Amino acid sequence: MRIDILTVLPELLVSPFSHSIIKRAKEKGIIEINVINLRDFANDRYKSVDDYAFGGGAGMVMMIEPVYKAIEKLRSERNYDEIIYTSPDGEKLTQKMANTLSLLKNIIILAGHYKGIDQRIRDNLITREISIGDYVLSGGEMPAAIITDAIVRLIPGAISDEQSALSDSFQDDLLAPPVYTRPSEFKGWKVPEILLSGNTREIEEWRHEKAVERTKKLRPDLTNDE
Ligand code: SAM
Repeated sequence: MRIDILTVLPELLVSPFSHSIIKRAKEKGIIEINVINLRDFANDRYKSVDDYAFGGGAGMVMMIEPVYKAIEKLRSERNYDEIIYTSPDGEKLTQKMANTLSLLKNIIILAGHYKGIDQRIRDNLITREISIGDYVLSGGEMPAAIITDAIVRLIPGAISDEQSALSDSFQDDLLAPPVYTRPSEFKGWKVPEILLSGNTREIEEWRHEKAVERTKKLRPDLTNDE
């Protein structure tokens, strides 16, 4: 899979893609992530990517031209399944959405800045708008990194034990069961006996019960029998 991220602040995206699962997925060739600086597509010598809002008011707006030129260049090189704009008023990112996106071949993620992007980009170039939650961040770089991370860990081969991603919270509308590691007792705080029993079937049953219990308690909205 290939993810091209368009941004005015490429430096912000160096660290999120240089560690752990994403780093290894890149090394294994499972994922290619390109961070593209929109200023490289600016028209003037100041590398301007923003301008005043028509009609006045506070805040600058990201201009059409650099975004259009960047997207056109990418589209001339390959087909894209989705051109995503990160936006607080977009569809809320969910695990189901991440599952769907992880099956795609090529996507572009446009990170907004300032007051946002010229609406005509949204109307004519963007195929999907995604929010990471009901709050406003300064820019779309962190949302782009979060969307990318949620996708990459689902691509087969990205995680050594594939089951590990499949048993995470929200797969099957359940939260994950609690997990424990050594020591089996610390300051009198004990690990549930069943996990030390070695009985795989019973452990799986226990984990499922705990997942259901936690979901009912913490996120009853995820279960049908609310
Ligand atoms: N004026 C916009 C509004 O009220 O909806 C907010 C603009 S915000 C300061 C700048 C950029 O950050 C947005 O264009 C978007 O790309 C990104 N952003 C901020 N919050 C976000 C969120 N919750 N989800 C996804 N992207 C977000």
